[in-house]
This record gives sequence, structure tokens and C-alpha cells, in this order.
Amino acid sequence: MNATSIVEFVRDIYKTNEFIPLHAPKFDGNEKSYVMETIESTFVSSVGKFVDDFEKKIEAYTATAKAVATVNGTAALHAALYMADVQRGDLVITQALTFVATCNALYHMGAEPIFVDVSPVSLGLCPKAVEAFLNEFAEVTETGCIHKPTGKRIKAVVPMHTFGHPVELDELVAVCQKWNLTLVEDAAESLGSFYKGKHTGTIGNFGAVSFNGNKIITTGGGGMVLCKTQELGARTKHVTTTAKVPHPYEFFHDEPGFNYRMPNLNAALGCAQMEVIEQYLKKKRLLAKSYDGFFKGTDIKLVTEPEYAKSNYWLNAIICPDKVSREEVLTSTNGSGVMTRPIWQLMHRLPMYENALRGDLKYSEFIEAHLINLPSSPF
Ligand SMILES: *Cc1c(COP(=O)(O)O)cnc(C)c1O
Repeated sequence: MNATSIVEFVRDIYKTNEFIPLHAPKFDGNEKSYVMETIESTFVSSVGKFVDDFEKKIEAYTATAKAVATVNGTAALHAALYMADVQRGDLVITQALTFVATCNALYHMGAEPIFVDVSPVSLGLCPKAVEAFLNEFAEVTETGCIHKPTGKRIKAVVPMHTFGHPVELDELVAVCQKWNLTLVEDAAESLGSFYKGKHTGTIGNFGAVSFNGNKIITTGGGGMVLCKTQELGARTKHVTTTAKVPHPYEFFHDEPGFNYRMPNLNAALGCAQMEVIEQYLKKKRLLAKSYDGFFKGTDIKLVTEPEYAKSNYWLNAIICPDKVSREEVLTSTNGSGVMTRPIWQLMHRLPMYENALRGDLKYSEFIEAHLINLPSSPF
């Protein structure tokens, strides 16, 4: 495959000679008017109707009992892990092939990651690899799932739906049940992605979504914790809003809470963006289809949704045949104003996670060496 033909193809799709970013937000709906409304009302901060509206919109869209808005996706994940009762000294199984926020959130709970390989089916955490790791190193005791070599408790499993492609959730749920582990989905990239008809982030015990500027819809910065019951939702709201006990004037807080609430200003943007999400999703599927057609019959392959899922195709990704052709594509596209980029370096290559426990990471390493993300804005 000739790298310059990729540049031509992308330019033809976006019909521009200007710089083409990987993913750009767009505000041509009610964004301005809702944001202006918050400014005119002065309710730009922690109180206001848009936060409730936005949570209700996400609850309806994802069919979740309670959604709790937060300042960003990392905060949502941190709060979800807190709610999942991850404790200082615990171990948490996750993938090395992820954005650093996944690991940072569990690190700030005082936990340590165990890196397990991703699946060729989803590019997300592989249930078979998790099971193999547990079979070799863990046992279930009265105090929970214990990592035998260290004696530490393995508390949770955090899969990430890479680029919006849902992981094999039925199998992961089964492994978690068998080994007494809590499942927390990092659904930061997968708003609009469904696993067998159910929205990602609603199948595990908790899910975390991100509305950062580069995600499928944005609130500037923002996140959401998806909770399975009203009760868990109420507790999540409580701990993310300084754990203040309601009272007309007294300040009483009943636990060390977070100040993670989403400002009304950001939620206003989110409400407007939720009005256009269906439109974005349609366009992104069309875009993925065009890319798929373009790469058919070449030595480059587009990453497509698993057969059990409907993906939001947040970021399109291709697998190059070797490192040399990957470098060629990266150099040629970026040199021509078409932004592409390699996948994140695996987490165990970062200084703070280099000593983390890990299983065999063959497929993660293959993906790290061969994958490139392509421009994926839905316009
Ligand atoms: C974007 C992202 C996050 C964090 O979201 P922020 O809103 O940027 O804090 C977490 N995990 C993954 C996999 C992400 O892509």
C-alpha cells in the first residue's frame, strides 16, 4: 500500500486541503444557546438544571439506573473504583494497551495494576488471558481472590473498550463471578457502543465514560459514572460531591469525599451534544465503511467491530503489515497535514508502572508495533 494514496483518500473524504486532525469536536446545534443560558442565569458552577438534565439524558440513552456526572473521565473511573471498594494494597487486573488514565485511577486508590493481554477479537482485555493468569497465580479464599505469590488481594478487573470496540463482556462477567472479582468498565471511549444490545459501561458493576474534547461527544472536560441501582447512584453522587449531608445551613460531611462534580456550564454543552449523537454515530459508521472499502485487498487492515457488538467507531485504526510500513504511513500522512498516530506505549513501559505484575503480552506488543489511528471526525 502506497502511503500517499492514504493522504489523497482522507483529503477526498474531508474535502479540504487544510490540516486534518484525528478527532475534532463540532458545535452547530444548541451548544451556544444552552451555554449562554447558564451564563445569563449565573448558574455556571456546581448547581443548575443542566447537570440533572445531562445525567437523565445519559441514563435514558444507556439504559442505566443512575448516571453521575463528574469533572472528567479519570475522575469518573476513580470514583467508580472507590465505589467498587478497591482498597490500598489491592491488585487490579487491567490491560497494558490503554490510555494512562486507566492505570492512574487505580494507582490513586492505592492499588497496583496487573497487566494482562488484549484479545484479537476486541483489542480490549482478553477473558481467556485473565482466566489463564488467575489459574496460574490466584486462589479464592474467605477474604477474596488472593494473588498467591504476593498474598495481595485481587479486587477488580478493569477492561477498556479500545477505540469504542466492546470487549467480550459475557466471558469477563463469568470470570469475575467465578473468581469473586468486581468488574469496572473503562467505557471512556465507548459512548454509543453496544454489547449484544446493551450499552457498554452498564454490564459490569460500574462503568466510567469520558466527555473530553477528543471523545465522540464533549462537555469540554467531563465524565460520568454509570451505576446499576438508584442506591449505588445516590452513594456515588454523595462521595463525588464532598459527601455533604444535606442541611439548610450546617456543614457536615460524613466521609472523605471527592469534589468531582461536573459544572453546569459543561453539562449545558453535553445536553446539546446528546441531541446530535445519533447523527455523529451514523456518520462515523459511514466513515469506517469507506476506510474498510479503501483498505480491502491491500496489506493493511482496518480494525472493525466484533460480530457481537455495535461499535461507535470512535477512532478508526489500521494494522500495518510491519514496522517499516507503519513508519512510512506515519511519516507521509503527518508530513502532509493529515494527522495519524501510533497507539499508546504499553503501560509497563512507563516508569511508574514498569515493575507492575504482568502476564504474557504478546498480542498487546503486536498491536503496539503495527497499529495507526486515522482521522475519525464524523464530518
Ligand atoms: C479519555 C480516556 C480516559 C479519561 O478521560 P478524561 O476525561 O480525559 O479524564 C480514561 N480512559 C481512557 C481509555 C480514555 O481514552
